Amino acid sequence: MSQYDAIIVGGGPAGLAIASELSRSRRVLVIEKGVAGETKRSWFVPLNVVDNVVKPYTYGGVTRFLASTYSGAKAQWRARQFERYPYVDEKRLLPFWAATIRNNGSEVVDRCEYRSHAVSADGVAVNTARGDFTGRLLIDCTGYDSAIAKQYGISRDGYYWWSVYGAVGEHPDGLSGMQVGDYMMWQTFADTNPDPKTSLQQGRPVFEYEILDDKTSFSLILYLRRQIMAQDDMAKVYDRIIREEAATAAFHGMKVKEIKYGWYPSAQISQELARERVIFAGDAACWTTPCGWGMSFILNNYRDFAAKLDAALQDDALGREELAAIPHFRFRERGEIVLNALMTHFLSNAPAPLLDRFIDLFNASNPNHIDPIYCEKVFTLDIAPEETETVLRAMLKEFHLKELYGILTPADYALLIEEAAYFVGESVVDEVRHWLGKQHPAEDGPRNPGFDFA
Ligand SMILES: Cc1cc2nc3c(=O)[nH]c(=O)nc-3n(C[C@H](O)[C@H](O)[C@H](O)COP(=O)(O)OP(=O)(O)OC[C@H]3O[C@@H](n4cnc5c(N)ncnc54)[C@H](O)[C@@H]3O)c2cc1C
Repeated sequence: MSQYDAIIVGGGPAGLAIASELSRSRRVLVIEKGVAGETKRSWFVPLNVVDNVVKPYTYGGVTRFLASTYSGAKAQWRARQFERYPYVDEKRLLPFWAATIRNNGSEVVDRCEYRSHAVSADGVAVNTARGDFTGRLLIDCTGYDSAIAKQYGISRDGYYWWSVYGAVGEHPDGLSGMQVGDYMMWQTFADTNPDPKTSLQQGRPVFEYEILDDKTSFSLILYLRRQIMAQDDMAKVYDRIIREEAATAAFHGMKVKEIKYGWYPSAQISQELARERVIFAGDAACWTTPCGWGMSFILNNYRDFAAKLDAALQDDALGREELAAIPHFRFRERGEIVLNALMTHFLSNAPAPLLDRFIDLFNASNPNHIDPIYCEKVFTLDIAPEETETVLRAMLKEFHLKELYGILTPADYALLIEEAAYFVGESVVDEVRHWLGKQHPAEDGPRNPGFDFA
């Protein structure tokens, strides 16, 4: 006889959100290796994922998007899809969820690291730093570096990772022209880069900031790579950027209040989301979009996902096939998945001039210009199939397929061509086939030398 209906490993946003719902009808145990609800992350999210329960734990928000590139291309626009993208108050929402779970009669246990588990015909036995527990279902919410996924041999080799480091800071002398609600979503630097390999995959990070109020910012650097970056290395680069770079003068006098950092996956939706009596959620299941938004996905889906788990528990439908069939997303259009994959490959591997041209697509002066609303939609992945077609058409007008071939691996390129067939029709695909036929690409294909910020 199991002690719990479900044991959730990981007391981050995914584990706590799902448990807060599931504990309404089920006996749940959340185990967290640190303290549940303590996080080094913070979030802003699209307005439409904020339900009435979460709403009181949000404030302010992004109202203006900006981008600024090393060669001078700039784009800026008022938030259009939603009048604001609210900030989540992580110091209040996560403890609220933990309290809800306890009030529902379930348990959250801190400093209780997961060690191993064994699945049998009638349950899962979980060994932790605080002893053994049994449940009918194990939900892995341990985030980007899931040991449980590794144990099952679930490969994350094809993933890209965002590595992020930054700080909430105070600006005692004011915001130097920046405005409350600003979100610099993409800033690169004109300074010389000593590293000749300078794509985001190999070179410098991009810089982002959000202006939280009239004297507080959250500024951060982001790498998008196949490998994760070490925290210490990121700390040094961040310090140099906010103290020394000409392009970040507004941050030179900032007083650091709180360091934020972390890693999250991009580009892939894991094909293996479940095993016998085990299901993955949150970053452990790659709930993500081209620029992260993992918290947005959690907020958008935790109620629905918990309801489906509740039904699976009700029906005792906890086998691998049955769990794998549970949709993780309320809706997930083909176009979203395609853009997720393609944009991540593009952002990681494109050299700076191509990224400049991508940002420039949202400027009215560009002949191939598309409305900046599409930039918002690409990054929040709230995009309809016909809008995906608009974005892909604009990109394929702006960039010759040969240029894109230079920055994508052959496998990625094959995906693009498959999608070109789906979205832009046979004539474009024929051209590519013709051209590819001439090129006979080698396995690795030619690689662009990179992302030159100099
Ligand atoms: C700096 C930063 C800024 C971000 N900004 C945004 C944003 O603006 N908007 C947005 O939507 N998303 C954002 N994201 C992404 C978002 O934070 C993640 O997608 C989200 O945190 C995923 O939640 P999670 O619960 O799956 O994983 P996590 O937040 O990683 O939580 C996992 C939890 O599991 C625990 N754990 C791990 N291993 C074990 C173990 N063996 N035993 C017990 N417990 C364990 C960890 O201690 C942790 O508490 C940002 C990420 C970072 C790093």
